Amino acid sequence: MEFTMQQLQDKFAELYGTEGEPKAYFAPGRVNLIGEHTDYNGGHVFPCALTIGTYGLIRPRKDRTVRFYSMNFDTMGVVTTSLDDLVPNDEAGWTNYPKGVMWTFEKRGFQLPAGADILIYGDIPAGSGLSSSASLEVLTGIMLRDTFGFDISMVDLALIGQYSENNFNGMNCGIMDQFASAMGKKDCAIFLDTNTLHYEYAPVKLPDARIVITNSKVKHSLVSSAYNDRRRESETALKDLQTVMDIKTLGDLTEEQFEAHKDAIKDPICQKRAKHAVYENQRTIHAVEALKANDIVTFGKLINESHISLRDDYETSCEETDILAELAWQIPGVYGSRITGGGFGGCTVSIVKNDAIDTFIDNVGSVYKEKTGHTAEFYVVDIGDGARPLN
Ligand code: ADP
Ligand code: MG
Repeated sequence: MEFTMQQLQDKFAELYGTEGEPKAYFAPGRVNLIGEHTDYNGGHVFPCALTIGTYGLIRPRKDRTVRFYSMNFDTMGVVTTSLDDLVPNDEAGWTNYPKGVMWTFEKRGFQLPAGADILIYGDIPAGSGLSSSASLEVLTGIMLRDTFGFDISMVDLALIGQYSENNFNGMNCGIMDQFASAMGKKDCAIFLDTNTLHYEYAPVKLPDARIVITNSKVKHSLVSSAYNDRRRESETALKDLQTVMDIKTLGDLTEEQFEAHKDAIKDPICQKRAKHAVYENQRTIHAVEALKANDIVTFGKLINESHISLRDDYETSCEETDILAELAWQIPGVYGSRITGGGFGGCTVSIVKNDAIDTFIDNVGSVYKEKTGHTAEFYVVDIGDGARPLN
């Protein structure tokens, strides 16, 4: 990371004074290997926590004041608020995320006894689909829990983060991102059934390959409105299907059941959205089986199919991420590549053979630049543990 822990502590002391040591915490970002836009459709997802994410220092106060500072948003300076004023507003900028978590704590009966001084630093590219927002929410949750001694499980911290993002920040995300940040485990991906929250850790053993994330460096502005549209379209499809069959979510359907009943979905757009949700869920189940059987070739093929489905049926890819995935598919040594995260820009995730990584970065980077004018960034990542205290 760009800043050392010592530098963060020095900054904390400079901003907030030296009376009492702050405690340090970390919550990771995540990359979803497969199972995209299934988490709010009752399907499976397969994310892993990264070793990059968001760091936080916190020290409780004696009054009800809350002060925030982010190294990544240093131009905003210290943002001061009060526990009696936990409402979202535009001027509050990024602090609406931690404020939302405080609001959710109170709403759930975890009354915060006092305010706090908080410093944040993230070494994850914000707004690129690696869930810096969820890491910030889970980080805030674990900091508040430990600082004020609440008895809350890590899964509940994930649910609090999701509730907060849904209801305080107006982003109707599913549970995947917060769950991965809270529950991640080194070298494992989390096979999560978002319908039941049943989960299983699956070791990601790639004998000759690494996970490479490519940041398109674009984020089209329709991202949150289109995300909420997709949610609505999926819900409409589900309601139509429920008139002819007894299901709770799209994740309950096999491909065959979907094909047999899909005509119940009146709107063709909604039908395409539902097709993605159903097929993507099944692909995720198969992909985990393939990974467990050390069949990385099949795992990679399913990743490619996921991209095609997001491109053609769910329509959450965009020109830039299509170019990145399609370039990757042409490079020998790439098992699979697809857009990851909410869509409309952000990152792709690729499984690349060790001896092809340099070529991958050179070729994809240069052709992408030629075609789009953007300079992609590449991160060869490791899978890390979930949110935790650091001292
Ligand atoms: P993603 O979650 O994919 O990174 P989002 O748009 O959902 O993208 O969240 C990004 C937002 O989260 C930022 O604009 C900012 O408001 C907040 N955020 C993330 N990381 C930090 C950080 N280190 N400091 C302050 N705010 C952050
Ligand atoms: Mg986010």
